[in-house]
Amino acid sequence: MTELLNQSVTAIKGIGAEMAENLADMHIETIKGLLEHFPYRYEDYRLRDLADVKHEEKVTVEGTVHGEPSLVYHGRKKSRLTVRLLVDRYLVKVVFFNQPYLKQKIAVNETITVTGKWDQHRQTITANEMSVGAYSKDKELEPVYAVKGKLTVKTIRRLIKLAFSQFGSQVEEIIPAELLQKYKLMSRRDALRALHFPSGAEEAKQARRRFVYEEFLLFQLKMQALRKLEREQTPGNAQAYDLSRLKEFIESLPFPLTNAQKRVVNEILTDMKSLYRMNRLLQGDVGSGKTVVAAICLFASITAGFQGALMVPTEILAEQHAESLTALLAPFGVTCELLTSSVKGKRRREILAKLQEGTINVLIGTHALIQDEVSFRNLGLVITDEQHRFGVEQRRILREKGENPDVLFMTATPIPRTLAITVFGEMDVSIIDEMPAGRKAIETYWAKPEMLDRVLGLMDKELSQGRQAYVICPLIEESDKLDVQNAIDVHNILSLHFHNRYKIGLMHGRLGAAEKEEVMKEFSSNEVQVLVSTTVVEVGVNVPNATFMLIYDAERFGLSQLHQLRGRVGRGSEQSYCILLADPKSEVGKERMTIMTETNDGFVLSEKDLELRGPGDFFGRKQSGLPEFKVADMVHDYRALETARNDAALLVQSRAFWQSEKYAGLREHLAAAGALSGEKLD
Ligand code: ADP
Ligand code: MG
Repeated sequence: MTELLNQSVTAIKGIGAEMAENLADMHIETIKGLLEHFPYRYEDYRLRDLADVKHEEKVTVEGTVHGEPSLVYHGRKKSRLTVRLLVDRYLVKVVFFNQPYLKQKIAVNETITVTGKWDQHRQTITANEMSVGAYSKDKELEPVYAVKGKLTVKTIRRLIKLAFSQFGSQVEEIIPAELLQKYKLMSRRDALRALHFPSGAEEAKQARRRFVYEEFLLFQLKMQALRKLEREQTPGNAQAYDLSRLKEFIESLPFPLTNAQKRVVNEILTDMKSLYRMNRLLQGDVGSGKTVVAAICLFASITAGFQGALMVPTEILAEQHAESLTALLAPFGVTCELLTSSVKGKRRREILAKLQEGTINVLIGTHALIQDEVSFRNLGLVITDEQHRFGVEQRRILREKGENPDVLFMTATPIPRTLAITVFGEMDVSIIDEMPAGRKAIETYWAKPEMLDRVLGLMDKELSQGRQAYVICPLIEESDKLDVQNAIDVHNILSLHFHNRYKIGLMHGRLGAAEKEEVMKEFSSNEVQVLVSTTVVEVGVNVPNATFMLIYDAERFGLSQLHQLRGRVGRGSEQSYCILLADPKSEVGKERMTIMTETNDGFVLSEKDLELRGPGDFFGRKQSGLPEFKVADMVHDYRALETARNDAALLVQSRAFWQSEKYAGLREHLAAAGALSGEKLD
């Protein structure tokens, strides 16, 4: 960009102080700002065959006037002008309301072009625009701009035209030539012109494609430059783990690792060994085996002389993790301890003392881990499970319990790739995209509430074969109390239904930790066959003999949450079932139920969820730090996003990018975006 374009809009002949003020109200201050005020859509004036136009759709047609138009007045101001128009083979009616003066312009047998709404039943166009003569192609698409205050779309169009005619030649390319060629992208100047004044739909599309790529590339360059900066400025511990003991440990596991597990373990170990501090997200669908990956990495850290910490969102999960990690690690002389808010008094003091001494190797727990009184001797690796449940602040506090410990965030809520690479652009991402062998896909069915009896019949059949079942109760948002009441009601109904042939347990948020643990233990050991629960079982719980899940009011849950719940079954080698009891009223609700029955793939579901809910809502609130793009759309343009991410990674890693004149434009842009501050890179 030349400096000229950074001048105020008043440098454009034809734009005065008052107009500049109007533009400033829309945050358009400079010529560049005006040129980059892109249309958000186009008014479509393309000619179409009437046979393809649906009822009530807008259409532009060209035809010859057939017979004398008729003009009828209703009262003084209202009028109706009717023209019969021959469009190809069709004779249609065109009606203009309250534009009597048009009658003089329309001569019999003349060609005119009209735009309006098509009424298929009456074969009539209610027109709002008309021009005499044949259709002219340069009006195919008209840009529509966001406007505010005193500005109209027409004014914006005019101003942009002024700006372009006076300063268009100053627009400079910023994408390196090799990338432009590789993707056959229009030059920046051509694309700007084509976005504002497209000669046709194809040109507008190509122009948009170029800016989508540009926006993504600049965004990704910024993220990756920041990441490089952060890596190089925060030294890590270069953990020198004992490879032969680690191999021994891996061989002791009751199963061989999947290829995906091996791959992510390698990625994580490489980070741990490196001089840089690890900042990595591990994504893996429910049941993909993240726990054992965590165990391997914790063990590695311990052989390097460090302590490890694992933070999880619920006490049940903390207990389960403590149990399974102890089982795996204790035989190798590793001491694991559990710390939650229910660990109190003397026991707590003991744990805290041992932690400081370094005689506890791995501490597993809930938020209790980040309290002030908890201090480690030398924390080397921090892992959080279900990371999206913890706030940024909590993760930071945990990280600061050591000196630049390596950090691994695990999540079973597959974040759509598109979001992961934007929101977590500054993190490295590892993905376990493979399930352990021998897993059968969970069969999922959607049943209407009136089919409950048949559903309970199916459940009985499973139970009679020695299997266990979860029943997830209706979710009442914002009301903990009603949630609990629902669970109690369902518990009563099922107890009655099964006449005490099976023992039915009850789990909800109002139970104390000890009671919860008791219920979970009974379910794990099969003393209890049916566990009626609110969503507290959502994360992590592992009971492989449970093969049946019934979810009440399934339409109230999001796709990702349903998938999480469903992940409690299908954990053993037996066929598992999940029944969604739901009577959704909306189309989206029905679609969600159908999708659940069609796929078991968490990533597919999360992409769908994103599509149905939109990126802003995906994380529940409109916060999430998602970047705003002017033309690009993270969901629909995700391929371009991936391409741009790869290109950005290559650029940032190359020496030429930081030195060559060729990339000066891009570097300038990064500097302006603050991505190079504190630099001296390379
Ligand atoms: P998640 O990724 O949901 O945390 P878990 O770590 O709880 O999954 O693993 C789910 C189940 O799969 C556990 O019972 C675990 O022992 C088992 N498992 C993990 N890895 C493998 C493997 N490579 N082969 C067979 N079973 C495995
Ligand atoms: Mg897990």
